[in-house]
Amino acid sequence: MSVVENKVVLEVADLRKVYPSPVRGGEPVVAVDSVSLEVLEGECLAVVGESGSGKSTVAKCVVGLESPTVGALRVAGSARLRAPRGRRERVRWASEAQYVFQDPYSSLNPRQNVEDVIGTSVAIHHPGLSPEERRRHVDGLLSDVGLGDGFAQRLPHELSGGQRQRVAIARALASDPALLILDEAVAALDVSIQAQILNLLADIREQRTISYLFITHDLAVVNQIADRVIVMEQGRVVERGRTEDVLRSPQEEYTRTLLAAVPREGWTPRRRERLAASL
Ligand code: ADP
Ligand code: MG
Repeated sequence: MSVVENKVVLEVADLRKVYPSPVRGGEPVVAVDSVSLEVLEGECLAVVGESGSGKSTVAKCVVGLESPTVGALRVAGSARLRAPRGRRERVRWASEAQYVFQDPYSSLNPRQNVEDVIGTSVAIHHPGLSPEERRRHVDGLLSDVGLGDGFAQRLPHELSGGQRQRVAIARALASDPALLILDEAVAALDVSIQAQILNLLADIREQRTISYLFITHDLAVVNQIADRVIVMEQGRVVERGRTEDVLRSPQEEYTRTLLAAVPREGWTPRRRERLAASL
């Protein structure tokens, strides 16, 4: 979990992303506006904000699923100015940053068992391995995510939500990424399972040289995982700081509103139209 000599793994500078209007003749949507951030080696940066605040758009620009309208991105030291070209570049980009989604079910082929899901990724990123070595590598990744014997042959529908998310994490780790982007990765899970996955992510960070961009609408989980936090509102960063500082003494009204939605001792639910809309 140590942050090694401030080596920057992800650098986002003045990122802006404008989408065309969803309705004909309407205003374009400014999804992300002048966002700058850095993630250091070994660090976990949380990106917090309501639904629609631009969190996923930042993440998609980082992995190349979207291209920025304006701004600069560097991942593991190399610039990303456009979508990746050709297989070799795509594989290299994937070995630098991996994306784990909220619902791994939609990204898992229902007919592919766990060994094939992870094995496919291992084969792409470690092309020299023999079938036996590949199997051993898959077993190692499964054990790294707490899935022991008996899981390799299972199909996605034979797994619980938490187990599926473990498979998605193992698949992401197959490329030995410098950066793992976790986009609402625990949002669909029960609180007890959430805690298990957060513990797993903490363990992985102790065992590997890996950084996290941890995206969530839920400030309650940030405390358990993040070193630093940025808070986004309507495409902009409105607050940033060390996790304990932002949670203990938020400077912005918006952050206080987000915090007011987090259940804790003495907490009474407050109706907030914008928060309610995001849940
Ligand atoms: P978050 O992940 O914080 O919920 P998003 O980054 O998904 O937010 O979305 C930010 C804004 O950009 C929202 O207003 C959303 O409707 C809009 N948006 C996202 N993707 C697209 C798209 N492909 N086309 C048009 N608008 C989009
Ligand atoms: Mg999102």
